Amino acid sequence: MAGKGDKVRSKPRANPLLSRWGGAYELPPFGKITPEDFRPAFAVALKEHKAEIARIADQTAKPTFANTVLALEKAGRTLSRVASVFYNLAGADTNDALQEIEREMAPKLAAHESAIMLNGKLFKRIEELHERRDALKLDDEQRRILELHYKWLVRSGAKLNGKQKKRVAEINGRLATLATQFSQNVLKDEQSWRMVLDEKDLDGLSNELRDAAARAAVDAGLPGKYVITLSRSSVEPFLQFSARRDLREQAFNAWIRRGEMGEKTDNRAITAEIIALRTEFAKLLGYQTYADYSLESTMAKTPDSVRDLLTAVWEPAVKRAGDERDALQERARAEGSNIEIAPWDWRYYSEKERKARFDVDESATRPYFALDNVIAAAFDTAGKLFGLKFKELKDAPRYHDDVRVWEVTNRRGEHVGMFLGDYFARPSKRSGAWMSAFRSQSRVAGDVRPIIVNVMNFAKGEEGQPSLLSLDDARTLFHEFGHGLHGLLSDVTYPSISGTAVTRDFVELPSQLYEHWLMVPETLEKYATHHATGKPMPKALLKRIKSARNFNQGFSTVEYLASAFVDMDLHAVDAESNEMLDVAAFEESTLQRLGMPNEIVARHRIPHFLHIMGGYAAGYYSYLWSEVMDADAFAAFEETGNAFDRKTANKLHKFIYSGGNRRDPLEAYVAFRGRPPEITGLLKKRGLAG
Ligand SMILES: [Zn+2]
Repeated sequence: MAGKGDKVRSKPRANPLLSRWGGAYELPPFGKITPEDFRPAFAVALKEHKAEIARIADQTAKPTFANTVLALEKAGRTLSRVASVFYNLAGADTNDALQEIEREMAPKLAAHESAIMLNGKLFKRIEELHERRDALKLDDEQRRILELHYKWLVRSGAKLNGKQKKRVAEINGRLATLATQFSQNVLKDEQSWRMVLDEKDLDGLSNELRDAAARAAVDAGLPGKYVITLSRSSVEPFLQFSARRDLREQAFNAWIRRGEMGEKTDNRAITAEIIALRTEFAKLLGYQTYADYSLESTMAKTPDSVRDLLTAVWEPAVKRAGDERDALQERARAEGSNIEIAPWDWRYYSEKERKARFDVDESATRPYFALDNVIAAAFDTAGKLFGLKFKELKDAPRYHDDVRVWEVTNRRGEHVGMFLGDYFARPSKRSGAWMSAFRSQSRVAGDVRPIIVNVMNFAKGEEGQPSLLSLDDARTLFHEFGHGLHGLLSDVTYPSISGTAVTRDFVELPSQLYEHWLMVPETLEKYATHHATGKPMPKALLKRIKSARNFNQGFSTVEYLASAFVDMDLHAVDAESNEMLDVAAFEESTLQRLGMPNEIVARHRIPHFLHIMGGYAAGYYSYLWSEVMDADAFAAFEETGNAFDRKTANKLHKFIYSGGNRRDPLEAYVAFRGRPPEITGLLKKRGLAG
């Protein structure tokens, strides 16, 4: 319909972040979003949320569940929509413009958050409701969400005096700025370092690895050369296969020095300041250390229970790693190499050892783990366990050409949510693998369906060839897909307890548990087929892979535990002095006290330990804590003799994958398993039992 006026004026362009996500699948309109849209969208969203909070806090009506807790849960939808798009892009496909906005927004968002958490009137209303909670006739989920809101506010400093609150807000702002710098620095180091090689430097590398290095060289504008980068998918295979010890040493030393290369991207001073601020914050709240503060709201509850678990596994792991080292040393000698095994030798000789002992090496297994097959296996498993179906949508909007989009439906053919897969490494992506949400499931304002994404850093296949995964890569895909299901199957009312919004030592249960289904015969027989011939993996190779399963577990466990101990020590710092922590010396003294084997370096050194700069501060142990549960939970299936037992799967769906944070995590586990988890399964799984 034409307008009334006779002049046609071009309307200002509507901000795509603020308009409704339309279309059949309600995906963000990725194609229309530009970095310039974020600043104005954040401004509008922050203003809106601020007004909503003021309306809740300033109202004169007596507090009720509906006018306070429910209203809080409904508030901030625009902000969460804008922020989720922004942070997903900032992690998976960033650029200078987004990084600048990220630095600018970090303290602003922290200030916004602090203003809510430290709002005295708001806290009064929640506190009053919390006191009357028995008389409010709440259902279980309502009561849980009220208790959580009360706890979140108290733990954010709601009970502090005015001066203390002011300091807490300052600390939050500064921490947000520092954490952003920290992760941007790591990315910069990963992007800027490269080792340029010639044909003669490639001894030991398979054709696939040579091709990958040649492509990386083309990307770097050095056609005809070969480039190794600090992306895990580039440097790790190089360390496994390069016969050039001198080059391995160079690559390894750069790899472990990310965030510690000096000058502008150095993270040591940043870390020291972060630790000092966290300690100060914990003390303001009446805790001795940040670890005490942080762990109180987890399943583990105290630093002691974390240390007990880490220590119980450390000793058998170090012993096993010692045996492994002796074997590697022996292998090197047998080859006539008169060296002492150094950290840059471990991966190289352990590949040889694996080949000699089990006759499996990565180049033999990769052809059986084409990316598409592993994705299909992960989907099929979700079908067998939970009745889900995945349909790929080739025309759906996406933020990068490599991203793939699926619609997820259930047994009844109903829409469950959307699943995005972003599998390949690129310089605009931070390292690692993760699951995230563009939108979480909830029911406070209509039936909001989840939009979940998995991000990986696999190496792309050669032109026209599939990407072939290592067994570890395949496991990572199953892991992140397990998190994805935790988001997709979420069935709760309130956004704050949706999907993966659980304690972090519980959150790795759905992901690590899912890894088990990669290795069951039903999966391997059907999906571990050769990418070119379509033939299933030979039975003998399958058997050899299985018998090699616990190979090098001493190394992996020690590498992981060392980082977990360093994280715990770092957050147990109890210094009152103003002197800044010498991060490198601190790390070294922790490792020395532990008796860290010389040939192994912690999986994450402090200057690039991204986990603990974000949500895993004093929380890196969570993987092991969850592993106690995942080993024990998978045993529930094994005990039935059927890895896909329907009855067990239904309970798993009901109490774990769909439960969000509706229940206390231990209660949820017991509801599924009928008893608390037992540690024997973990030690057995890692091959460390007695
Ligand atoms: Zn995980």
